[in-house]
Amino acid sequence: MLTSTPTRPTQSPYRVTVRRVSRLSPSFVRITFGGSELVHFLDTGLDQRIKLVLPLPGSGFDHFPTEHGPTEHGPTGDDAWSWWQLWRELPDHRRNPLRTYTARAIRRDEAEVDVDFVSHGDGGPASAWAESAVIGDEIIIVGPDARGGQAPGGIEWHPGTARTLLLVGDETAVPAITAILEQLAEDATGCVFLEVPHASDILPLLHPDGVDVHWLPRHASDDSAPPYGEPLIAAVRDWTSRFVTAQHHGRPGDQVTPGDIDVDHEILWEVPEGSAAGGDLYAWLAGEASAIKTLRRFLVSEVGIDRSQVAFMGYWRHGKSEN
Ligand SMILES: Cc1cc2nc3c(=O)[nH]c(=O)nc-3n(C[C@H](O)[C@H](O)[C@H](O)COP(=O)(O)OP(=O)(O)OC[C@H]3O[C@@H](n4cnc5c(N)ncnc54)[C@H](O)[C@@H]3O)c2cc1C
Repeated sequence: MLTSTPTRPTQSPYRVTVRRVSRLSPSFVRITFGGSELVHFLDTGLDQRIKLVLPLPGSGFDHFPTEHGPTEHGPTGDDAWSWWQLWRELPDHRRNPLRTYTARAIRRDEAEVDVDFVSHGDGGPASAWAESAVIGDEIIIVGPDARGGQAPGGIEWHPGTARTLLLVGDETAVPAITAILEQLAEDATGCVFLEVPHASDILPLLHPDGVDVHWLPRHASDDSAPPYGEPLIAAVRDWTSRFVTAQHHGRPGDQVTPGDIDVDHEILWEVPEGSAAGGDLYAWLAGEASAIKTLRRFLVSEVGIDRSQVAFMGYWRHGKSEN
């Protein structure tokens, strides 16, 4: 039998322009990108991650390697990432800032992709770019290519057959969690905790009746705020004490205490591949890395949930830029 080898990479750089800018709330701005090539952007939904390539002052994208080379040096070993190695080899002044985001919505028919940016005001190039974006501004999105003919990677939502779902995230994970919720089966059950800066950042979302959604605004009315992640940690502790039973733990006695991670120097990214093993609970947690690390220690070491049932993702690190 003949098998065909895909001739296209599974991820491609797409040159796009800003079509619309919508202020969703004080902390979220939605940018709708358009570009004729986006008709090929694979509509995976869920927590599909993408890379945004930001323009360099003066030279824009003149030095960004958009053509696919023959090398296989990327983080996945897939030639989809051949541009990655070329980008890394560029001198600092020619290397465009690269940041990781979520494809909040994909409309191939209209050749559009929405990205919801957190306006964090901490000087990062991506947040600053989004704040000042106007119609017609150019950017490059590296995202899944339907012509690749294979799973493109970049999705970490793997609940398997687990019947109880726990989704936990701060504002940077709101786009991913809302996209996941839109794709859950109608009879799904579970709980969602979303920490956002302000009560006015609570966004409308669709979710099955059996999934409870709790928004946790960080700033109180007097504008005092606890550290990032503290409301999530308290909420998960409370939920776990009330709802987690032995049947949620996975394989008894199989738990391994997670090794320590120095989130100042390493990315906290621990995701089970494929379906969750055993157990009736699947948890997906993303947000500020120190908070996710605390939740990882709590759920795995204290509660005893099998690590194969939980995705822990440090989406950003307080005080550190992405690269
Ligand atoms: C898989 C994945 C998906 C993501 N999806 C989204 C998404 O859809 N929307 C989104 O807004 N973010 C998302 N993020 C998080 C985003 O990549 C980071 O917030 C990133 O650091 C923003 O880049 P920047 O250029 O604005 O700031 P950077 O240059 O990376 O950082 C500059 C400074 O800003 C601080 N900072 C960065 N982000 C925040 C924040 N949210 N709040 C407060 N301070 C911050 C840093 O600690 C640093 O001190 C995602 C991350 C990952 C890994």
